[in-house]
Amino acid sequence: MPLSSHPTPIFSVELFPPKTPEGLEKLKQEIARLNELAPDYFSVTYGAGGSTRERTFETVDWLRAQRIETAPHMACVGSTRAEISQILARYREQGVQRLVALRGDLPSGMGGGTGGDFRYANELVTFIRDTCGDQFKIEVAAYPEYHPQSGSPERDLANFKRKVEAGADAAITQYFYNPDAYFAFVERCAGVGIRIPIIPGIMPITNFTQLARFSDACGAEIPRWIRRRLEAFGDDVESLRAFGHEVVLTLCRRLLDGGAPGLHVYTMNQSAPTLRLWQELDLPRTP
Ligand code: FAD
Repeated sequence: MPLSSHPTPIFSVELFPPKTPEGLEKLKQEIARLNELAPDYFSVTYGAGGSTRERTFETVDWLRAQRIETAPHMACVGSTRAEISQILARYREQGVQRLVALRGDLPSGMGGGTGGDFRYANELVTFIRDTCGDQFKIEVAAYPEYHPQSGSPERDLANFKRKVEAGADAAITQYFYNPDAYFAFVERCAGVGIRIPIIPGIMPITNFTQLARFSDACGAEIPRWIRRRLEAFGDDVESLRAFGHEVVLTLCRRLLDGGAPGLHVYTMNQSAPTLRLWQELDLPRTP
């Protein structure tokens, strides 16, 4: 059975910058394990408004020092053009070749207005292309279940298209557990002339409370049958993880069999669930 009908599938993993030096040391060990899978790249999140700026830099610096392919996230809301230019210059000097360009959500307490030069991610993509040409591959976010603030699915799709027309090379989706949502979205994209690879974002299931909180905040649906099973496990973490693994493994198989052009795993800085998934999917390891 083909791994993916796409000729050059991309397999990548996402990290967030740890809050403490001890956290960074622990993350380095997780990265070493993940790196044995030889993913195409590691992405590192960035808090909108610069809330994780130095910590994101520190994580990216370490990855680049190990010569690991790194895609820093850039969240533009609340930032000025000068600030974004400085960050781009830094990444250019480090030989970073790929960025994940986002609007971001300002943390509560940072005010409702944007207070910066960018309102939406398409403006950031345009800015990067205008100032850096084709120096970076640009990934943007996509929402198979639609972004929670979008007025309508049509408007959200039109807004996604703006990012593609501004110069995005590929998209990574918000996580989802319903493969039909992904395939329907990809089909709608094709219908409006969007041709870039749309890579499913995969969230391993290891902690129900945390997953439910994230999902409520970002508008990702946990299908009722999955939610009910997860709730029922209560404190039985081992059974929850075993069930969660099977759900996500089946999801990934369906996506790849259906032609998804790769997978992007939200590792939550834990290597074990990703390693198990990768091994059981028998994903390629290109040294
Ligand atoms: P946009 O594409 O700008 O869309 C945001 C909303 O505005 C949508 O409802 C859209 O329909 C609408 N919209 C877009 N353009 C226009 C326009 N021109 N006119 C009117 N309406 C418009 N957040 C972080 O803070 N840091 C991260 O590192 C981070 N990483 C992420 C990685 C991935 C793969 C994903 C899927 C999300 C990530 N997020 C991150 C969360 C993301 O920032 C939020 O989902 C945010 O609310 C939207 O960001 P966006 O780039 O999709 O925004």
